[in-house]
Formats: sequence, C-alpha cells, structure tokens
Amino acid sequence: AAKRRFFIGGNWKANGSPASVKQLIEELNSAKLEVDTSKDVEVVCSPPFVYLSQVKSDLRKDYAVAAQNMWDKAPGAWTGETPAAMLKDMSIDWVVLGHSERRESCGETSEVVASKTKFAIESGLSTITCIGEKLEERESGKTFELLDLQMKPIAAALNEEDWDKVVLAYEPVWAIGTGKVATPEQAEETHAFLRKWLADNVSQKVSDSVRILYGGSVNNKNSEELGTKPNIDGFLVGGASLKGGAFTTIINSAK
Ligand code: PEP
Repeated sequence: AAKRRFFIGGNWKANGSPASVKQLIEELNSAKLEVDTSKDVEVVCSPPFVYLSQVKSDLRKDYAVAAQNMWDKAPGAWTGETPAAMLKDMSIDWVVLGHSERRESCGETSEVVASKTKFAIESGLSTITCIGEKLEERESGKTFELLDLQMKPIAAALNEEDWDKVVLAYEPVWAIGTGKVATPEQAEETHAFLRKWLADNVSQKVSDSVRILYGGSVNNKNSEELGTKPNIDGFLVGGASLKGGAFTTIINSAK
C-alpha cells in the first residue's frame, strides 16, 4: 500500500458492557505497538453510541473514535437519532456509514449512504464508507456490477476535495462475521477494480490517495498477508477488534 498511510478500524458493533468496554480500553492502552501511529498507521475504534464518551475520554489519544452511524439532519425533533453535529460537539471525528448490517436491517440504500457521507463531511466528520457484495452476487459474477451501483451515488454526492475525508471499506458480505475471509488475491482484485473505478469516475488524484480497507473476518493470523497487497490500505475489523491483543497484532501488521 505504497504512499498511503495504513488504516485500521475496529467496529465493535452492538457489543459491550460498561465493564467489558473498560477492560478493552485498558488492553488497548497497555498493548505494545510496533508501529508509529503518528506516521505508519491511523487507528480508529468504533464503539456503540452509549460508550462513545467513555471511549473518547479513556482510550489512548493516538487512537481516534468513530460512531457507527449518524443522522444527516440538524439537531431537533428526531427522536432516537444522533445528528452529526452532536458527534462533532463530543469531539468525535469519524463515522462509519453504510455498513452492510445497516443496509440489510435498516434499509439504508446506496443513495442514503451517499447523502449521509456528504452530510458527515459537511459537518466536519471523516467517514469510513462501506460497500460490498453479497454471496449470490459474487457467485453469479456480478460483484463489479454491484460495486459500480454502490459507488455511483457516492461519487455523485461528493466533490473532489470531499474524498480527502473518506476512507472506503470494501467488505464482502459473505466474509463478515463468517470466518470466511476473502483470499488476498480475491481482495486485491476487487481493490484494484475500485481503484480503477475511482480513476475513471472521479480523478487520478483521488484514486491514488483514497485508502481502501478490506473488511470481513480479518484476524491476527491473516492480516499480515492481506496487508502485503498493493491496493489494500488497511482493514475494518469486527469480531477481532473486541480483543485488545488480537487488534493490536492486526495494527502491528501495518509494518
Ligand atoms: C465488520 O463488521 O465490519 C466486519 C468486518 O466484521 P468481522 O471482522 O467480524 O467479519
């Protein structure tokens, strides 16, 4: 992943209790890093909303904090939602958008994901915007077609400078939480497709600079090999981000 700074995101999903979050923070804070977080790698942890302030105040300061979603409207009469401005007020700098679990269970379309991405950037947040095909799409040879459909609304919503604030996470749905990781070759092929897509549909500059993460059953045993691929700029990690030791090993694979 030449030139681009490696990026490791930890998606805690809807997991944790006050005690387990405290313990995970302690594990992450005391773990021995072999990489330099001011230059080699950027690390972002994404806890559930109710733990954001705990994590923001207690997690080591060289790791940033992300929300797992946000509301793309100004604060007001939106019961149960968390507007972007509130995240910003809490000094949260990142938001995960368009995770496949939200696309699937909350009906978030690619248009919604695109408009949330734009709103987040306008609100001063950076985004980890997720895309990825389902098993039936991969098996019927429609992966690139589907990714094209997911990317188009995002590219239409953003201007060239907006892309400085976006990290793309390619997460094949069949690999998320299944233990079935994409092979390094499968992941690299798709990342190379996305990089070319950005060159053809946005600009060469954006294609060269945007970090494209792989997500889907990344763990402390497979991260090193995946990370050697030229178009894989880091990972979005689910299950293995809940263990301080495993997550730290994945961060160290940025070497
Ligand atoms: C994710 O939820 O973004 C993810 C990749 O999960 P897991 O690592 O558990 O497959």
